[in-house]
Amino acid sequence: MIHTHPDEMAVQEYVVNNSSNPEVAAHIEQCPHCLALVAEYQLLFDELKEGETPAFDFDLTQLVMAQLPQPAAKKKATKAVTVTAWLLVVAACALLFYFIQPMLAGLFNGIASMLLYLIATAAICISVALLVDMFKRHRQQMNSLNNYA
Ligand SMILES: [Zn+2]
Repeated sequence: MIHTHPDEMAVQEYVVNNSSNPEVAAHIEQCPHCLALVAEYQLLFDELKEGETPAFDFDLTQLVMAQLPQPAAKKKATKAVTVTAWLLVVAACALLFYFIQPMLAGLFNGIASMLLYLIATAAICISVALLVDMFKRHRQQMNSLNNYA
């Protein structure tokens, strides 16, 4: 008989198999501390056996799927709202264009030609800078995607 308490694994093996190492079994049967541990594990394992595989008497998947929103109908509604919004925006632009059309011809008459060239140059420079920045960002994103692959 051994004189030190066996480790938890040995006690569990004794509870499950009842045929552990004979020296360990002899110790457990003589030691009140180990017997208490065996009783606790016995209770735990009995509870685990009783509570195995809780089964529902209904189809959980079907119940959950029935409560999920239908994606197709929602998508249609969202598309209709988007189309309506775009039609409103186009109508507003057309109306605005209709009212300012007579003034468009004289739009650039009041501005000196030098100022006009400055505005055009600035607009071109800003556009090129934005395009270069967009291209750089696109390349950076493509590189990060390639690193994941
Ligand atoms: Zn013991």
